[in-house]
Amino acid sequence: MNTLHRAEPHIVGPLPGPLASAWLARDDRVMSPSYTRMYPLVIRRARGAMVEDLDGNRFLDFTAGIAVTNAGHCHPKVVAAIRKQAGQLVHMSGTDFYYRPQIRLAERLADLAPGDTPKRVFFTNSGAESNEAALKLARHHTGRPRALAFHNAFHGRTYGALSLSASKPIQRRGFAPLLPEIQHARYGDLDSVRALFKTTCPPDELAAIFVEPIQGEGGYIVPPPEFLPGLRALCDEHDVLMVADEVQAGVGRTGKFFACEHWGVAPDILCLAKGLANGLPLGAIVARADVMDWPPGSHASTFGGNPVACAAALATIDLIEPRYRRNAVRRGEQLREGLRTLAESHPIIKDVRGLGLMVGMEIARDGDPDPHLRDRIIDMAFYRGLLLLPCGPSTVRFCPPLCLTPNQVQIGLEILGETLAATSDGPG
Ligand code: PLP
Repeated sequence: MNTLHRAEPHIVGPLPGPLASAWLARDDRVMSPSYTRMYPLVIRRARGAMVEDLDGNRFLDFTAGIAVTNAGHCHPKVVAAIRKQAGQLVHMSGTDFYYRPQIRLAERLADLAPGDTPKRVFFTNSGAESNEAALKLARHHTGRPRALAFHNAFHGRTYGALSLSASKPIQRRGFAPLLPEIQHARYGDLDSVRALFKTTCPPDELAAIFVEPIQGEGGYIVPPPEFLPGLRALCDEHDVLMVADEVQAGVGRTGKFFACEHWGVAPDILCLAKGLANGLPLGAIVARADVMDWPPGSHASTFGGNPVACAAALATIDLIEPRYRRNAVRRGEQLREGLRTLAESHPIIKDVRGLGLMVGMEIARDGDPDPHLRDRIIDMAFYRGLLLLPCGPSTVRFCPPLCLTPNQVQIGLEILGETLAATSDGPG
């Protein structure tokens, strides 16, 4: 029986159950060992913020498949849009042909993007590809070779995007040489950018500064209020392009459609992916029209802007804008307030931060970040029916679907409270 309409998790037997165990063994034999699965969850289906595994266990999902299913898993309106489009046209390639869903979506994104200047859109299939496209466009438009990003940034794993990333050594180890002429400043620190300009990064050779409005993989770090406006001013002063990587923070997650709107900043290029098509692979860069001036043939993608993914994105945006985006503000406040209440009785919660439903809870013991304790909390929450993910060195990441109900926030907080109590009792 499908019980995914129920708001509360339900664990029917020891995890993983027999069906999940059999598939875990098969996975172990054939899948790349580079993936980072935290717990043995083999999923059969999902709806809204609920996920069911092969053995009928039901989980409350505070991960949204790594901040992707912003309108909720399998939202009926998104599924209907996918079905309708799949019955009409699945693929022709926007590189060589025209079709309406792609043009409609470009118009919608250009309209939503901050700033008064006209915009143009290039479609990709992922966050890495969006950053890759932004880097190529920035070099092409400016004729300058260098790019600047920030420590703890994550922009993806292809060579250009990886060169911009500075998150974890494991992501770079063994893959050198990366792209030259890419440097990193301290996130949130404008002086650190100015210091590079005066020493190793002449700004007249700099094409672009890549910045996450809120750092995602780096630990859900919200920068100080002056950081993004100050970066915009520095870019304007030196004719450098500002690229906002909104792959994780965009599409309503923080309570604005684009996170940089919290600071009234209009970047020259915006990178999107993850939540854009609610689970279908789709990314985009939205750039000032005068910046996106590359000629035919200079950049393209066979699948980027696929009709089915574009139809899913149009349906997703209709749900997010403004209903679920507003819900993200209210549920985010409820979640942070509940976590701060938990922090009063659990001193291992060192910090609670975030905007909308992009919320981080940092775990420390005796004042020091404790990645092992953080991982144990996530693991133990799973066995109680709550799905969580890590980010940064010692942060628990909360990025649930934006359709989350007040009741589901409450249930999640209760499970977390039980988990934290069990964690402090000793090994779980
Ligand atoms: N940029 C940001 C801010 C991200 O959080 C991620 C993924 O976590 C990426 C880029 C890379 O996206 P993808 O995994 O779709 O390539």
